[in-house]
This record gives sequence, C-alpha cells and structure tokens, in this order.
Amino acid sequence: MSEIIIDTYLCSGCATCVEMCPDVFRMDEVTEKAELVTVSPVITDEVHQAAAYCPEKCIEIIE
Ligand code: SF4
Repeated sequence: MSEIIIDTYLCSGCATCVEMCPDVFRMDEVTEKAELVTVSPVITDEVHQAAAYCPEKCIEIIE
C-alpha cells in the first residue's frame, strides 16, 4: 500500500505542498505544519513534484 509521510518535526510550514496539491496537503492551523487531507491519498505526479519542491525534504512517499 502506498503512503505519504510528512516529517512534521522538519516541516517549516511554508505551505508549498498545499499550494501545489491542495487535494492532498493542508496546513494544520494549530501546529502550522503540513498534514494530509485524507489518510490514503492517491499519489499523483503532482504529489511527487510537491515532495521534490519541499524545501525541507520532509515529504516521504512510499510506493
Ligand atoms: S512543502 Fe514541506 S516544509 Fe513546506 S509545508 Fe509542505 S511539508 Fe512543510
């Protein structure tokens, strides 16, 4: 099963992933870190791009 893991310790809250993939990522308004919109999102090319553009490299995709 594929999975997306966000290392919230490293996440800087820049929201790049949210801008690139708002169906998959959103900001946790309390912690100001990224979180997943759904537990098992479909991993599209856009998700891979968001992971690549994450400045902290804290989005891990397991397929
Ligand atoms: S792009 Fe990376 S550092 Fe920025 S909010 Fe998303 S997970 Fe956090």
